[in-house]
Amino acid sequence: MTWQELAEGVYARRYEELDLTVGLVVGTEKCLVIDTRGDVDQGAELAAAVREITPLPWIVAYTHAHFDHAFGTTPFLPCEVWAAEGCRAELDTFGDNARRKRAESYRAEGKPEIADALDRTSIERPDRVVETEVTLDLGGRSAVLINLGHAHTDHDLIVHVPDAGVVFAGDTVENGPAGWTADSFGVDNDLTKWPAALDRILALCPKIVVPGHGEPVGPAFVAEHRDGMASLSVLDAAVTAGELTVVSALARSPYPEDVTEAALSRNSARPSESA
Ligand SMILES: [Zn+2]
Repeated sequence: MTWQELAEGVYARRYEELDLTVGLVVGTEKCLVIDTRGDVDQGAELAAAVREITPLPWIVAYTHAHFDHAFGTTPFLPCEVWAAEGCRAELDTFGDNARRKRAESYRAEGKPEIADALDRTSIERPDRVVETEVTLDLGGRSAVLINLGHAHTDHDLIVHVPDAGVVFAGDTVENGPAGWTADSFGVDNDLTKWPAALDRILALCPKIVVPGHGEPVGPAFVAEHRDGMASLSVLDAAVTAGELTVVSALARSPYPEDVTEAALSRNSARPSESA
């Protein structure tokens, strides 16, 4: 885990745990931390790592409410915490349940230290809401928080750093072995709107896009997996309409079976699993 400087004062930091990638943008007066990791201990590690780079006061932005991106905030407080509209409601309604479930599964996986940290974790609500777009002045540079609408979740936020040509995309972009992974798809995603969300990222003409998981990528990667997501959306619609069997959809998908299955199963009320 080291900081990767993508442009002057713009950093990504990757973690082995869940292959998570977080971000940091440093101005002359403030810095912006993009996502805070998954529990209070992980957040403390990140806060200390930010302090290796800069002593400036920080602002936090959540790309979305999933625990691995938003549950490490307590060590950063007090500070502004920004998120897209919908993130706060998601945390209020489902956050604590997600925290307990994740602790259980980490315990079952034989990672009791992460489970214990989750038990000690407070979920910190965002106190600033991005309805459409908000420009933060960090001193000498700005960072634009953009509410992307409905893609990986119903409250995806991205961060554009125009002077550096960098976009932090949260989990609207993931760089797993095949691009998307089975974990890219949750109960709240919308395959039909996801490709347009990726077009909005591409319209910013980024040189570098930082995914929520995996190594930073270029615009060609985003375009390739926008097309892939569009294919998944078409297959999902056909399966839902009963025009295509799941088996045929798996065969036609540009992605491995586990990825396609996850995309379909989380989006379709399938008439039948057979044939
Ligand atoms: Zn996520």
